[in-house]
This record gives sequence, structure tokens and C-alpha cells, in this order.
Amino acid sequence: MQYDTDTQAIGPETTLNLICTKCTTVIEINHQTLGLTFREIFKMTDFEPHEETIQMFGICNHCRKQEQSR
Ligand SMILES: [Zn+2]
Repeated sequence: MQYDTDTQAIGPETTLNLICTKCTTVIEINHQTLGLTFREIFKMTDFEPHEETIQMFGICNHCRKQEQSR
């Protein structure tokens, strides 16, 4: 039996969702350094996350370019 290598073997990984509020594009980034940082925060606060996803809202580079060209 084999498990997916991306669940536990690799280690902490935090998913960062960058969401464009204009075109609703979601840029998903799996970040390991962030994962380690959050691991420390969870340790400090004795918090057990169910899902390590961070959402940030903003404007994507495509929409920003469109705004600038106006
Ligand atoms: Zn956009």
C-alpha cells in the first residue's frame, strides 16, 4: 500500500491562495518555508489546524495591467 507522498512525507506545507477580487482568479501556492513558519506559530499557541490555507485578496497582475493602461 502506498500513500501519496505529498500528504505527510514532505513535511509542513502551507497553501497560499491569492485571490483576485476583480476576475476571481485564484493563484495557489504551496509554500514550504511558510509551512515551517506556521508550524512554529501553532507550536507557540498550541493550536492544531485542520487546514493550512491562507487566503489573501487583491488584484492580480493581469487586472492591474488593464487598470494601468486605461
Ligand atoms: Zn484579476
